[in-house]
Amino acid sequence: MISSTGVLTIDLSAIQSNWLQVAAMLNGRAECAAVVKADAYSVGAGEVAAALYASGCRSFYLATLHEAKQLRQVLPQDTILYVLGGVREGTEAALVELNLIPVLYSLPTINRWLDFCQSREQAFPCAIKLDTGMARLGLTEGEFVKLLAIAPDSPLLNPVLFMSHLACADEAAHPLNDDQLKRFSSAVTKIKTIFPKIKTSLANSSGTFLGEAYHFDMVRIGAALYGINPQPGSINPLQNVIDLKLPVLQIRETEQPSSVGYGATASVKAGTRLAVVAGGYADGINRSLGSAPEGRAAGVEVRAVGRLSMDSCIFDITSVEGDPAYIDVINHELTLDYLMSVNKTLGYEVLTSLGRRYQRRYISSGTNNE
Ligand SMILES: *Cc1c(COP(=O)(O)O)cnc(C)c1O
Repeated sequence: MISSTGVLTIDLSAIQSNWLQVAAMLNGRAECAAVVKADAYSVGAGEVAAALYASGCRSFYLATLHEAKQLRQVLPQDTILYVLGGVREGTEAALVELNLIPVLYSLPTINRWLDFCQSREQAFPCAIKLDTGMARLGLTEGEFVKLLAIAPDSPLLNPVLFMSHLACADEAAHPLNDDQLKRFSSAVTKIKTIFPKIKTSLANSSGTFLGEAYHFDMVRIGAALYGINPQPGSINPLQNVIDLKLPVLQIRETEQPSSVGYGATASVKAGTRLAVVAGGYADGINRSLGSAPEGRAAGVEVRAVGRLSMDSCIFDITSVEGDPAYIDVINHELTLDYLMSVNKTLGYEVLTSLGRRYQRRYISSGTNNE
């Protein structure tokens, strides 16, 4: 059947294989957690998490309580779900009821959690995040010193994980990596004097590839699961996971020289064959794919012409024989990596912009589970 919207095919076995590959790099010494925030970077958190559970993954990271709540309904209870957005006022009870672990990233959020633990007289588990050089979420050095001072007298403080996040892990030679590693290691030594069993975690996907020193007890991989190259510039060791086809709604041959699209920013000669396809900037078909996004029609290279519209865009298919039903915009050739290198954009952005209007098709080892 020809779909009226684009078809986003997600290869769950490729995601499993990417996870297994990274997990194997850890030699059984560290745990490989999956980051499935933002609906698994747009490809479907429920499906991805269930597939990874089947491969042996037991720890998952979400951004918000809402995301974690949805995933809790899908995953068995022997999974640990971390909420990176921490604890907002009024969400304490929901986090505990759903058996979620908030990542506390400041003294006020630690105090909020402690207040709740005191009101219930129970030491509910939490994770603590330190900022080691990114100035995003995480305790400042000053806050960390204060935490170390209050922790011995806070019997209800029960941090099970201590973590930080790297700012430049995708640039292996960047000096900040080593700097953050040193700061984190030194903080780990200090916090372990109070909580000797606390687990530790520093690396995202790219950080994991910086070497064993970065692995600690757990790595948290997002991008690598979805096939984004953890080391841009080197050969991507991971499998491509997604394929995106946009259906051709109309094919027209220009009878005279004509302008194309809003603003008449492009013009074509008479006799140009144009394919109008479903999928526009509201679907992530935007400038992160280049000024004239590239596609494949029946395997032939084609380019978009004119401005991209919200729901559609126009490809010049003059060089294509016959009437293609679809134009491929992401596939084994037009990988996120390739798009990233050609357009100088982030594979992360391309992926998370894809939006909700596509028909999603999940495949596993070549089988089709629509
Ligand atoms: C998003 C996120 C990750 C995953 O990063 P990738 O680069 O996609 O592997 C890991 N840790 C934290 C704290 C994050 O916010």
